[in-house]
Amino acid sequence: MSTASYPDVLLFIDGVWREGSRHGGSPASQPIVDPATEEVIGTLAHASIADLDDALAAAEKGFATWKRVPAHERYKIMRKAADILRERAEDISRIMTMEQGKPLAEARVETLAAADIIDWFAEEGRRQYGRVIAPRAENIHQVVVREPVGVVAAFTPWNFPINQAVRKASAALAAGCSIILKGPEDTPASCAALFKAYQDAGVPAGVVNLVFGVPSEISQYLIPHPIVKKITFTGSTVVGKQLAALAGAHMKRVTMELGGHAPAVVFEDADLDHAVKLLSGAKFRNAGQVCVSPTRFLVHENLYDKFVDGFTEAVKGMKVGNGLEDGVRMGPLVNSRRIDAMEALTADAVQKGATLRTGGSRIGNKGYFFEPTVLTDLPPDARILNEEPFGPLVPIQPFTSTEAVIAEANRLPYGLAAYAYTTSSATAEDFSRRVESGMISINHHGLALPEVPFGGIKDSGYGSEGGTEAMEAYVNTKFVTRFAV
Ligand code: NAD
Repeated sequence: MSTASYPDVLLFIDGVWREGSRHGGSPASQPIVDPATEEVIGTLAHASIADLDDALAAAEKGFATWKRVPAHERYKIMRKAADILRERAEDISRIMTMEQGKPLAEARVETLAAADIIDWFAEEGRRQYGRVIAPRAENIHQVVVREPVGVVAAFTPWNFPINQAVRKASAALAAGCSIILKGPEDTPASCAALFKAYQDAGVPAGVVNLVFGVPSEISQYLIPHPIVKKITFTGSTVVGKQLAALAGAHMKRVTMELGGHAPAVVFEDADLDHAVKLLSGAKFRNAGQVCVSPTRFLVHENLYDKFVDGFTEAVKGMKVGNGLEDGVRMGPLVNSRRIDAMEALTADAVQKGATLRTGGSRIGNKGYFFEPTVLTDLPPDARILNEEPFGPLVPIQPFTSTEAVIAEANRLPYGLAAYAYTTSSATAEDFSRRVESGMISINHHGLALPEVPFGGIKDSGYGSEGGTEAMEAYVNTKFVTRFAV
């Protein structure tokens, strides 16, 4: 087992790890806190505008270098980065659990999955084909080629510190782009470990750059900057809309991976035990801080009582604690803001008449632990039914007809993920056709593999972070027509 200690985290600009340059008297920084103990475990360097200028210059130079590296060479370097990540997985996972809170087993899965994502994009980078279009006249030659968009500015959150970053950085690298990534200030060290793997694998200086600081200052500076050609953001819908508006004002290409409020529908003919088992597992992964987490449980009235009893029992047996300890199923929330949000959503529901089946409170007063919570008998205006909870809260509602449940699934402006449990192919087909969502998963939770599209519609954003679609975001299409003289 790894005994790695938590490192201080620096900026990575032009191939060098460094402190932020001076803001007034001293380099700016912030403490990094372990959410399980509330102890300060490290210090994070903050970028000033001067540092961002350095990162921009480095990324511009990095792009000029990297776009000329043959795809086959890029592939070899990326595959090496994946192997380095695998070799270091035990240390990185421990560091991730210390800063983010998730159980060590989940951190390990995330780190190893990141290596798979790099491998997949490395392969995909070798398969960027153009095409030849039949001309309308003799002596004309028409081709379509794909070129990297250029310098990418990426913004990633704290819930999957490596995974959110590796999708963006690897697709950009595979396409031949350079990138400046503003990583998650709450959980910076595991994200930094990813960049160290790219560096040690031989990605040239300036091609990948990692900065931290005040998120709004960094996005306001990078998005309009003429060197930046592409914006990609993962985070809340509120912030996503602000950044997309800014990008639009400067005609920048954008990918937005935003919030969701996924319906999880258990139809009358579902395998009940299977649904309880899988939904209780999926719901509390990363303490519910997952954009595709099932969050609006809708259960057919004939199964409702049995489902609520079975689900509540499964939840009550769940061990909550420090993610480094053996047997812990759910760790703390990432910061005190998430505790405040869980308390406010629970109090609102209960005050409006909901029944608290289990949970509902913070656990202890040290560490950001919150009980896995099940709520029933909710009125339609309960905030939890309308706002993304991003935490371990489960509202369960009964439904009577397929029409009603499809209408409920589509009622909110979100459209990221939707789940259904049914043994009927016809119901599964109907659900997947009529539910407005970027991703649909039936009788299991099969999302987020490297090779499958990952993204939302409506207020959940646009663009994809997986599959061949993810590469599209980092290439321009160029049409060339030549008349032979
Ligand atoms: P938040 O909106 O303050 O921050 C979410 C992320 O966006 C963070 O990484 C933050 O650094 C970044 N961010 C915030 N303002 C920014 C700006 N102006 N420019 C650039 N980046 C900016 O919320 P929070 O309290 O950290 O997290 C809670 C909410 O965020 C959740 O309710 C959830 O909706 C959303 N969230 C979504 C995801 C996801 O995977 N889609 C991940 C994390 C958080």
